Amino acid sequence: MSVPVVCTTIDEVRARLDAERGAGRTIGFVPTMGYLHDGHASLVRAARGECDVVVVSIFVNPLQFAPTEDLAAYPRDLERDLGVIAGAGGDVVFHPSVDEMYPHRVATTVSVAGVGERFEGASRPTHFAGVATVVAKLFAIVGPCRAYFGEKDFQQLCVVRRMAADLSLPVTVVGAPIVREPDGLAMSSRNVYLSDADRAAAPALYRALRAGRDLIVGGERDRARVEAAMASVVADEPLVELDYVAAVDAATLGSVDRLAGEVRLLIAGRVGRPRLLDNIGVTVPPG
Ligand code: AMP
Repeated sequence: MSVPVVCTTIDEVRARLDAERGAGRTIGFVPTMGYLHDGHASLVRAARGECDVVVVSIFVNPLQFAPTEDLAAYPRDLERDLGVIAGAGGDVVFHPSVDEMYPHRVATTVSVAGVGERFEGASRPTHFAGVATVVAKLFAIVGPCRAYFGEKDFQQLCVVRRMAADLSLPVTVVGAPIVREPDGLAMSSRNVYLSDADRAAAPALYRALRAGRDLIVGGERDRARVEAAMASVVADEPLVELDYVAAVDAATLGSVDRLAGEVRLLIAGRVGRPRLLDNIGVTVPPG
């Protein structure tokens, strides 16, 4: 297990990765906001398995936080993160300051219509423009690569795929499965904000998703009934304040009244302090 090289400037990381590509090596890229857990480590391991050089960015991106959100309080621990990255096989860490990434007020932003508008886009109106802008910038800095994103943020994955395709960016976007705690709670850096009582309540989100999936697998095709069943699981847990539940087409995130093909069940809610997201995929059985 070797210690990853830490680059803090754009010039430094770009020069290093250009040299690696020049020597014929492929690059795997894992963008993160740090405070890494096994979900992030799984992305690094996936990149390690498929690419010659693995770069992980750690940058808490102010553009994707609204003024009312938890930017200043977002958890950070660089030393621990470097250990997680080393253990998962990362080679290079890009850890820029806010001034390095945004030396001037940002005048150019990227916004992705359609797939970014509902759900997280509706609840957090400036969020996806902030995400798409920083990811476009990171792709420009890292250069041609395979970039790994978790299905944990399923709508974000759809937004990034769409942006990379629309802008012809030289990046292959790879989605990776959600890593969960033993009781089903999706791992998230924000889980550290949960009180003991909230932590015990939080798996209700995953229970709701499983209930929706079981209904569909059992033959239910009516979207509204599936969504109502998921919402009623959450209603039984008073510490979870539901934001939305939805059963959508997995490719477009559009709603259909009759469920068919590949469906994604999405859920978001506040559990005490943090707002948590989760989702699962369901293949609707034919007939
Ligand atoms: P973040 O640091 O929260 O911005 O997340 C960085 C990347 O890790 C994103 O692509 C997330 O979707 C992914 N990620 C976060 N949590 C998980 C998880 N539990 N399982 C898999 N991927 C995750």
